[in-house]
Amino acid sequence: MKAIAVVPGKPNSAHLSDVPPPSLQSVPGGRGVRVRVLRVGVDGTDREINEAQYGAAPEGDDFLVIGHESFGQVAEVGPAVSELRPGDYVVATVRRPGKSLYDIIGTPDMTTEDVYRERGINLLHGFLAEQYVDHADYIVPVPRGVAAVGVLLEPMTVVEKGIAQAYEIQRRLRVWRPRRAAVIGAGTIGLLASLVLRLRGIEVTTFGKTPKPTLNASLLERIGARYVVTSDLAVADAGRELGPFDLVFEASGYSPLVFEAMQALGKNGVLVLSSVTGGDRRVEIPADRLNLDFVLGNKVMVGTVNASREYFEAGVRDLAHGESAYPGWLGTLLTHPVKGLESVGDLFEKLNGGAKNAIKVFCEVAS
Ligand code: BGC
Ligand code: ZN
Repeated sequence: MKAIAVVPGKPNSAHLSDVPPPSLQSVPGGRGVRVRVLRVGVDGTDREINEAQYGAAPEGDDFLVIGHESFGQVAEVGPAVSELRPGDYVVATVRRPGKSLYDIIGTPDMTTEDVYRERGINLLHGFLAEQYVDHADYIVPVPRGVAAVGVLLEPMTVVEKGIAQAYEIQRRLRVWRPRRAAVIGAGTIGLLASLVLRLRGIEVTTFGKTPKPTLNASLLERIGARYVVTSDLAVADAGRELGPFDLVFEASGYSPLVFEAMQALGKNGVLVLSSVTGGDRRVEIPADRLNLDFVLGNKVMVGTVNASREYFEAGVRDLAHGESAYPGWLGTLLTHPVKGLESVGDLFEKLNGGAKNAIKVFCEVAS
C-alpha cells in the first residue's frame, strides 16, 4: 500500500513509499480494527521529524511512516470487537503504553518511562497511509455530525488534556471559578484552546505575533476572544493591563514566553505549558520576582504532553459543542488540503511555510 515515510536521521527524506499492508491478525485476541484513512493533519512535529531532529523507525525497519493526526473509517473488525463496525468514523490515539504504573492504568500520556512509543513519531508507524490496523482500545469513534472536522480531534486532545488538568489541579482551591484566561500563540493549538475556554464561559485574550488583519485574529473575534499582538502589548505586561489571568495556556512554541506568562498569571492562577521546544534557547529572567510572586500568590505551572483516550472523548464532545455554538468555525481552520499521498512534496512545502495564512495543512488521503 502507499504511505508517506521518512528515513530517520536523514533530513528532508519524506517520500511516497510502498509498504506492506498491516494485518488484522497482528492484534491479539481478535481485537484488531482495520481503518481506511481519509485525512491526516500535519504539524510542527512532522516538520521536525522530516528535518531529522526527531523520530525513530520501528525495530527492524529503516523507515518510519509518519502522520499522527488521523481521521478515517472502519473497514473491518476482528471477532472480539463489538463497539465498532465498518463505516464508523474514527480517530486513533497516538501514544501506546509502556510499563510504568501510569501506562498500566490507561494513561500512557503520563508515563514515567524515558522512551515512549508514538504512532507516526517514535518507534511505531503512523497514519499517512492508505490504511492502518490497531487495537480497538486505541480507536475512538467520531459521530457523523462532526466527521467534517474530525481531523482536528488529535490537536484538540492536547488542549483538552491541558485544560482538564488545570481544573483538576485547581480543585485545591475548593471554590475556583476562572473568569479571565490568556492563550499564548494563535496557531491551531492556540485557536482550539481559545475555543474550549470560550465554551467554558471564560473571557479569553489570545496573543499572536502577526498584526491584524489575519484569518486567525478574525476567527478569534468571531468566538468573542480578544486578539493581542505581542509587539503592541508584551505578555509580561498584559497581566497588569488586561489581567491578571486565572489560567494561562502557553502554545506559542517559543519558550521565552513561558517566563513572561508567569508574570501575567494572577494569584492562585494556573499556567499550562504545551509547547514542545527542541532547541537550546537561553534567556535572562527576573528570578527573585517570579519566585516570590509564585510563592506569595500560590501559583501553579504544569506541563502537558499527548493525551489518553479520555481526552479524545472529551475532544469529541467539544468539537460537537463548538460546531453548535459557532457553526462552521472549526471547518475554517482546515485551510490547506493537499490531495493524495503522492502529493507529499506539496504537503511539506505548505507545512514549511510555503502556504500563506495556513492554519491546518492536511492530506486528503481518500474521500
Ligand atoms: C503530538 C503529541 C506528542 C508530542 C510529542 C505532538 O505533536 O501531537 O501526540 O505526544 O508531539 O511527541
Ligand atoms: Zn502533533
